[in-house]
Amino acid sequence: MILDEEPLLRSRGLYIDGHWVRAGAGGTREITDPADDTVIAVVDEADHDDVRSAVAAARSAFAAGRWSATPATERADYLVRIADLLEQNRDAIARIETLDTGKTLRESHIDIDDVIAVFRYYATLAEASTERRVDTGNPAVLSRVVAEPIGVCALIAPWNYPLLQMSWKIAPALLAGCTMVAKPSEVTPLSTVALVALIDRAGVPAGVVNLVQGGGEVVGSALTTTPEVDLISFTGGAATGTKIARNAAEHITKVALELGGKNPHIVFADAEFDTAVDAVLTGVFLHSGQVCSAGTRLIVHESVADDFVAELARRAARIRVGPGIDPSSRTGPLVSRQQRAKVEAYVALGISEGATLVAGGKRPADPALAHGSYYLPTIFDNCHRDMRIVQEETFGPILTVERFATEDAAIALGNDTAYGLAAGIRTADPVRGERVARALRHGTVWLNDFGYYTPAAEWGGFGRSGIGRELGPGGLAEYQEHKHIWHNTAPTVEGWFAD
Ligand code: NDP
Repeated sequence: MILDEEPLLRSRGLYIDGHWVRAGAGGTREITDPADDTVIAVVDEADHDDVRSAVAAARSAFAAGRWSATPATERADYLVRIADLLEQNRDAIARIETLDTGKTLRESHIDIDDVIAVFRYYATLAEASTERRVDTGNPAVLSRVVAEPIGVCALIAPWNYPLLQMSWKIAPALLAGCTMVAKPSEVTPLSTVALVALIDRAGVPAGVVNLVQGGGEVVGSALTTTPEVDLISFTGGAATGTKIARNAAEHITKVALELGGKNPHIVFADAEFDTAVDAVLTGVFLHSGQVCSAGTRLIVHESVADDFVAELARRAARIRVGPGIDPSSRTGPLVSRQQRAKVEAYVALGISEGATLVAGGKRPADPALAHGSYYLPTIFDNCHRDMRIVQEETFGPILTVERFATEDAAIALGNDTAYGLAAGIRTADPVRGERVARALRHGTVWLNDFGYYTPAAEWGGFGRSGIGRELGPGGLAEYQEHKHIWHNTAPTVEGWFAD
């Protein structure tokens, strides 16, 4: 197996209470490279009892209070140490991520740099995060709101950005003083195993971070039905998010849900043509479209639409699809054969709904790619809002094109979604750009850019894209309870019931 010698993956078991342990029932799972379907690693797979042990370890570490009582500035030192270790192992982790997910090495390197940035960013919030004074109007009263860790957190991440999404949870949870059980997707667990190995190396106390691996139906479900968890932070699909919200309601467990998106990219007639074509292509086809914020729904002004779509189709046909590990590939395979089958079903649906296929719509012909889960960048023209391919998250390399005549119509189409994660606008008119940005009901709006984010700005969705925010100070607040302490330093008799 290709990752047998990888030092960061020496232990591929579960990490519970500061020790690498084997899954109790001996369950294992083969992890494959979607570029050619070869087995790259075998990892342990937990069962209910393993999850119970991991949650118990997190619970007793939280109850012992050592981590939550550690000053926030010291917890921040651990985050910096983890960031340093990630930096030292940047190339190894990028390779693991590429072999596991199929994304190109260049994308994996960007992911790892973003992961490092998240740990460093949250380290800077240590001093600001703990206490806020409140003026009650009474000088004798010392009133303050203190931020305390929420407790034991279940952290569940998807397969498309395994390490990135997990780091958006682990970094703020650690800074807040929480303890946690992390569950990566069974499809792509390896980079999280590597991260936990580095967290161990950084000396984070036993029981603070625990790792369980295994499928959603067993491990995820066990983690989200126990009353021993205080917060479930989940990133994944809307259907799973709904199940988790239902489970959480049983014990009034707090949930933070980062779900999917069907993200409009609106191109006005005055947008600079080449930059806009380039941004639309990158926005939708990066990581073969397996991106929650992918700009999968092009809404383009009717006066430029024909030329725009023709140029998009021309350039899409030239995108070099190949193994992520090959530096000449511009996009890799889909994560699995199941994911490709889902994409193929959506392409068949688009055709049956009457959309016009102008690019892709099939697997690559190159026999060298026959064993991987590849699919060509695909564009459907002449789409309209009632089509399922326009409304549903296809989570693959599929762009739909709709045309508009007026600004109001563009806004109406941009908001015509049950989701609300992200949107893009291209225009040369900054006043119009700002106006449209304010009118769109999405958690992130890019004006003359697409796909960028910073750890300092909150990320999350309106509508069915989720509940709560990650990143920024808001992303830290998810892991905190806010307690108001009203301290009267000079109490006097009030006499309400003196008689
Ligand atoms: P899923 O919802 O299938 O899975 C997400 C995670 O939940 C995985 O770890 C999965 O485990 C686990 N899971 C599955 N079933 C359950 C369950 N019953 N109880 C608890 N946990 C469960 O999503 P995908 O992995 O397919 O990820 C793609 C989705 O994630 C897309 O909809 C995408 O838009 C969204 N996403 C959102 C982001 C955002 O920031 N808003 C960012 C990235 C992705 P396992 O895989 O092991 O079965």
